[in-house]
Amino acid sequence: MIERHAGRMQIVCECGAAQRSTYARDEFDVMVADARAEGFVIEKIAGEWAHTCPDCAEQAKRSKKGSLL
Ligand SMILES: [Zn+2]
Repeated sequence: MIERHAGRMQIVCECGAAQRSTYARDEFDVMVADARAEGFVIEKIAGEWAHTCPDCAEQAKRSKKGSLL
């Protein structure tokens, strides 16, 4: 999700982990690029944007693999 505080915004995972910086309204592209550089996975699922931190992305990958075994 994207959290906004006092005119700044940042990408936050469902688990509460936020990216390192906050960004101004006109820095949306920079925010997304930085989040990806930090390992966040940003994808559209069922029409909704999902923002997943590196830890949760790694866990999701592992549980997907596990279900195949
Ligand atoms: Zn997370």
